[in-house]
Amino acid sequence: MEKIWSGFYKKNREERLNVIKNANLLDESHLELIEKNVVLDYETANNMVENVVGTFSLPFSVVPDFVVDDKTYLVPLVTEEPSVVAACNNAGKIVATSGGFKTTIHDRKMIGHVALYDIKDAENAEKIILENKALLLATANEAYPSIVKRGGGACDIDVKILSENETTFVVVYLVVDTLEAMGANMLNTMLEAIKVSLETLTGGISLMAILSNYATSSLITTKCEIPFDKLTSKDNGEDLAKRIELASKFAKIDVYRAATHNKGIFNGIDSIVIASGNDWRAVEAACQSYAAKNGRYEGLSTWTCNFENKTLIGELTLPMPVASVGGSIGINPSVKLARHLLKNPNAKTLASIIVSVGLAQNLAALRALVGEGIQKGHMKLHAKSLAILAGATNDILDEVVDKLRKEKHMNLATAKKIVEEILD
Ligand code: NDP
Repeated sequence: MEKIWSGFYKKNREERLNVIKNANLLDESHLELIEKNVVLDYETANNMVENVVGTFSLPFSVVPDFVVDDKTYLVPLVTEEPSVVAACNNAGKIVATSGGFKTTIHDRKMIGHVALYDIKDAENAEKIILENKALLLATANEAYPSIVKRGGGACDIDVKILSENETTFVVVYLVVDTLEAMGANMLNTMLEAIKVSLETLTGGISLMAILSNYATSSLITTKCEIPFDKLTSKDNGEDLAKRIELASKFAKIDVYRAATHNKGIFNGIDSIVIASGNDWRAVEAACQSYAAKNGRYEGLSTWTCNFENKTLIGELTLPMPVASVGGSIGINPSVKLARHLLKNPNAKTLASIIVSVGLAQNLAALRALVGEGIQKGHMKLHAKSLAILAGATNDILDEVVDKLRKEKHMNLATAKKIVEEILD
């Protein structure tokens, strides 16, 4: 743990920037971006999407000392929700002092499909498609030669016959190594190219040709192993560890809990995915569908106790189709800054950090939830939001928050009353 980061949360912005400067994490141009708070300008925004009338801001925070695969990162998080950054910070430190997160990258490919219908003999169509695999892969690669030149490209084809109420689809899955890109546009271009050949080969009609966000060929596993006594300073931590294991079992069997369990994981994941300029809808779609891979929606993480070693072991496997190039990654100055803080990771390393942030966030939530309860920590931070909503300006904000936290009913009406009393 580097001492320079201690008490980072108590410092003002200038002091925080000085810490970052002294840690030599940013070159001059990136320091300027952060110091001047350079954000997306209107002209750039207007070239990114349609009907632009302005830009929209969110808080940009950092979490120091986050250890993944023996490397220490300063993690950028973009979120509007109080307590997410503090939770990531807290759990990240516990894991960092326990050896950090260790990740395994299972594969890094994307899948797209062409759905064909009106085929008289589906089994025969499947046979013909598989016999023409080499031709179809060549057609896909000819449609997007630059990815092949870079060392990637279409590498496999699979076929499934799926039926629903007397309608049969022959679905052709194309697997593509998209290298550093997420690959949606690449896949869509390739799929539209093979669609014509598939119609000719099978006599069927293509319904659609599109990337699938169920990115099961981009799986990453992150793990951590925490000594029981690092989980809490109150006792030896064994009871808390057992309760965290129970919470993870509970989230596997109760969909009401699973949804919230996973939402906690995505408090962290969405925040870093947004900061890194990636498509967070694609990541959400991939991971939420992966949560239902066993036929029912389940909690995504698993926590188990090792009583011999007196450790709690956490594990999270997710599809993480993120990129280091493409989309808006090279365009938004805040994204450039976030990537620089992360030491410009490639797509696989970025995915490893992201999944680890998800597991950290999950640990923080479960630790609070089965320990002292989630509200104590949450309401502390919520008090600040209430005070601002009640009209507290910076000069009285701390006083309002202090008073509000002592009140039995912490709500907007109480916050307004306190602000009025102070201003009277
Ligand atoms: P791009 O269309 O931006 O393609 C990636 C770009 O990165 C290409 O221009 C490629 O160059 C370039 N590149 C540079 N270096 C590399 C490298 N080492 N490896 C790979 N590419 C490299 O993005 P994607 O195809 O990745 O598509 C992602 C975008 O599509 C996102 O904005 C996403 O929001 C959107 N999208 C998502 C959908 C979904 O999720 N269902 C559907 C449709 C769109 P070159 O051309 O020279 O190869």
